[in-house]
Amino acid sequence: MDIHQLYQEFVNKVPHIELDRRELMDRNAPNKSTRILLGESSNVLNWNDVRFPWSYGLYKKFLGNFWTPFEINMQADKKDFPLLTEEQQDTFLKIIGLLSFLDSMQSDYSADISKHLTDSSLNALMIMLAQQEVIHNQSYSYILASVEQTKEAQDKVFEFWKHDEVLINRNDFIVNGYKPQVKHPTITDMLVSIIYDVVLEGLFFYSGFAFFYDLARHGKMVASATMINYINRDEQQHVRLFTEIFKAIKQDFPEYDVPELKALTTAIFKKAAELETTWSHYIIGTRFPTIDVDELAGYIRFIANVRTKQLGAEPPFLRQETNPMEWIKVYAETDLGKTDFFEQKSRAYTKTDDTFDDTEDIDLGGLL
Ligand code: ZN
Ligand code: ZN
Repeated sequence: MDIHQLYQEFVNKVPHIELDRRELMDRNAPNKSTRILLGESSNVLNWNDVRFPWSYGLYKKFLGNFWTPFEINMQADKKDFPLLTEEQQDTFLKIIGLLSFLDSMQSDYSADISKHLTDSSLNALMIMLAQQEVIHNQSYSYILASVEQTKEAQDKVFEFWKHDEVLINRNDFIVNGYKPQVKHPTITDMLVSIIYDVVLEGLFFYSGFAFFYDLARHGKMVASATMINYINRDEQQHVRLFTEIFKAIKQDFPEYDVPELKALTTAIFKKAAELETTWSHYIIGTRFPTIDVDELAGYIRFIANVRTKQLGAEPPFLRQETNPMEWIKVYAETDLGKTDFFEQKSRAYTKTDDTFDDTEDIDLGGLL
């Protein structure tokens, strides 16, 4: 069955409940929300009185991970870029074009989701997430300004997504997954849009990330890859927030926790992995001897499986239980701590602003 049929089966199985914008304030409601959607909530935020125990931890994580492109010195990349092969330059710019499209859409989608959550702490986290997407977008402009001198060349990168067939297919997949929720929000379509969100934040960035990490492990464009690594780290927390929200909606509205939703999740990730693999063949393929395209396809299947499980469904690729792309772990698993590649090798010398000391863990005191 294709995704459209599975979506229809899910729609037919569950109630049709529309969502409205949350009230700005409600004097008669408690500060701690009663339900994640359509709940009672005064809309006042008091971190000592929130419903989900994980939300404050995630808030601290968001603050602790805070960064801006201004911290990164691009001088070395500026010298590296003209030394890259023409194919490397072309792929580099096309990936920047794709990422900037995805992050632009993502700021808007997350801001839209935040309006419907009847929980002031989750609204706060969603607004922070949206702000981080804006910073991600700045980083692409920042990279481009460093490597491409002319405005015309930069404009071309930001126009690319409008005309490239492979990219259009891939981006439309997400746009069509988000649209029903953004146009006429319902609980059904919010759940479905969150599956697409996890595709965007948890899968569709990853072959692009792999290309940057491959350059960095060969000592090229390390400052750009450092930014990509920070974006990667942010996206992991974004996936965490959305998967927790997905779980909480199913807990508050158990009538939506049906096998049809699981089947749809698996099918969406199967298709998403196909699109990501097509894209990676197109953009990376066999053009670069240091990236094995079959290994990359296995890596994409592996991530699709992980994300599907995070959403409580069966993984689509039964024979892909491990990550075949060994070398990427040290770059992509950003929670490995302060000993990772970028912390050790590049952050020390790319720092330009001594007033921001990220080597210290941010401690907000024992509020919770
Ligand atoms: Zn982002
Ligand atoms: Zn994100």
